[in-house]
Formats: sequence, C-alpha cells, structure tokens
Amino acid sequence: MILSQDGAELSPSHQVDFWRHPGSPGHPADLRVPFPSLQAVKTLLESKGISYSIMIEDLQKLLDEEKKAMAKSRRTERSTSTFDFASYHTIDEIYSWMDTLVADHPDLVSKLQIGQSYENRSLYVLKFSTGGSNRSAIWLDTGIHSREWITQATGAWTANKIAEEYGQDPSVTAILDGMDIFLEIIANPDGFAYTHSSNRMWRKTRSINAGSHCVGVDPNRNWDAGFGGSGSSSNPCSETYRGPYAHSEREVKAIVDFILGHGNVKSVISIHSYSQMLLYPYGYKTAPAPDHQELNEVAKKAVSDLAAVYGTKYTYGSIVDTIYLADGTTIDWTYDNGVKYSFTFELRDTGCYGFILPSTQIIPTATETWAALLDIMVHVLEHPY
Ligand SMILES: [Zn+2]
Repeated sequence: MILSQDGAELSPSHQVDFWRHPGSPGHPADLRVPFPSLQAVKTLLESKGISYSIMIEDLQKLLDEEKKAMAKSRRTERSTSTFDFASYHTIDEIYSWMDTLVADHPDLVSKLQIGQSYENRSLYVLKFSTGGSNRSAIWLDTGIHSREWITQATGAWTANKIAEEYGQDPSVTAILDGMDIFLEIIANPDGFAYTHSSNRMWRKTRSINAGSHCVGVDPNRNWDAGFGGSGSSSNPCSETYRGPYAHSEREVKAIVDFILGHGNVKSVISIHSYSQMLLYPYGYKTAPAPDHQELNEVAKKAVSDLAAVYGTKYTYGSIVDTIYLADGTTIDWTYDNGVKYSFTFELRDTGCYGFILPSTQIIPTATETWAALLDIMVHVLEHPY
C-alpha cells in the first residue's frame, strides 16, 4: 500500500481530496482529483500498479444539478408553505423547520441549545420526551462532517418520523413511553454553512489553527478516546486533523458536556456518510470491545432489516475491523464513558455519487435507515442496564 491515510507520495500540490481512505490493504480508496492533477495522479497509480476506475467524470456537473434541484424545491416550498424532505436545505431552513416541528408537537418535542459553535452559531438539539425526570436517553447526531448532506437530510426526516409515529407505531410509542430521544441534526453548523456558501466539499469544523493557514479540525478525531494516535493526523491541513487537544472543538465539547451532564444516556448513534456501514467500537484499538458480541448481533439484525426495505447492502463490525484505525472518534469516547450502545452509520452510497447523493435518494435512504434505527432503539429499551 503506497497510499497512507494522508495520501503519502501524493504530493500536496496534487490537491487530492480523499473521499474514502484506503484503510487496510485490499480496501478501495475514493479520491477527488482536481483536473490539473489528473494526468499526474493517473501516472503515479499506473507506475505503482494500482488499478483504478473513474466513478464521477465531472463533479461540477453534479454540483450544478444539486443546486438546480434545491432552487426548484425552494420555489415549491414557498408556494405551498411546506418543508420538502426530499430536498437539501440550508441551516436557516432547517433551524426554522425545527421550530415548526416543535410548534406542531408541543407536548412531545422541544428544542434545547447545548452550546455555540466556533463562529457562534447555536447548537440546537431536539428533545423528544413524554415526561418523567432524567429518563434513560438515546442520543442521535447527524452532520458532524458537514459535507455529508444526506445525513442532515436524514436527521430532519427522522425527527419528523419520530414525532408523527408516537401514538401510532407501537415501537416508537413504547420507546418514548420509557425513554427520551435527543437529536442534533446539524452537529457542525459552521462547516455546514460553509458547504453552502463556499466549498461544498468541506468536512471539518471552521476553527482557525494557530500557526497554520489551514482551517478546521476533524470533529470525528477530536474526542478523548485514543486521542493523538496513528489513526488521525497532527497536520492542520489534513482532512483528519485531530486538533490541538482533545475536545478542543466547541461542537465536540458541547456534546461531551451534554452527555456527561445528563448522566443517563444509554445509546449514542452518530450518523455519517458514505459507504453503507454500521459500526461499533473500537476504532482506536484492535482489542474487541467487552460488548463486542452483543453489539455485533444488534448490528447484524439492523443491517438485515435495513436491506429488507430496498435491498441496500451494508457491512458491519467494529470500526477498526471494518475500515481502519481511527482514533478520537465519537463512539469510542461514548463507549469508554459508559454508553454501551454506541454506533456509527455510514449511509448511502458506496461511491457512485459519494457526498453528492442526489436528493431523490433522501427519502429512500432515511426510510431504510429508520428500520435499522428502530431495531437499535428497541434493543436499548428492552435491555436496560
Ligand atoms: Zn463522516
């Protein structure tokens, strides 16, 4: 393997953006290559005997189509005063819709602010609760990597689904009669705003890094779980830059403080894209988690029920076995801090569109993911600890 996680041997001047890191030998990598570097990168791969294929010929074309689809949906939304779940939205649109959801379900849904981002945007969390005091809770987050737009869109759909199914679907009703659900749809609002305003491919936070011209920290390498190991980068220009110290990012620290302050969070499900995987700890070490077997069984059932919806195939396993060594991740920290049912999803697809998944796939993606989420939440409800 000549390509390390940071793409060693590909010089920074190639400006290659790893959409999917190669991980262990034999696993594929997906790279976005700027046109001026294309020939050099092809030559390098060929000289190393690495086979490749072109998945997206012209990314700009997909970006233009995505913009067009958003504009069209916005016109419809204006004339009908509805929120279109089958479209991608800006932070303002999602935040405004969250207020509508709360207003429509005042006895079930409320909105909390758990902190502020680096650029002082509010970090909002939806709380679904039927009462009680400090009930056991399930935490869900989407969009901690800002360019993974299918995740924030799935988060909004899921919030609406939870609100609508309470009192209708027996599983949802049972879950919310016993537990609370917290959902942070835009876990990295600065990055998300930046994907809309400047660079659709932005993944990290927007923190200024002292002594570097490169901006941002990878908020899924910033947690205090194996922080600083070889599964992250110390280079502020890397997409997997871990940050100057654990929990340096306000967006991460806000969740840490919330979970520790709550004290009764039983499950954390952190949703990413892409590559169709359901993962559990560990990522920072190869030793199996003490609950490996149970987590594996939960994941196996969840991906099987997900596949039953539209046939979408997921792989599952621990982060380190399934992808690669990754340290400082959300679910390793939650697991090491007593949250047994810690999972990460990597939603659609497997690279055909990558981060630019067409909005026509939002509802199918959210619908199939819901089957897996329900499995996990029901398991948590039925296995109190
Ligand atoms: Zn991600």
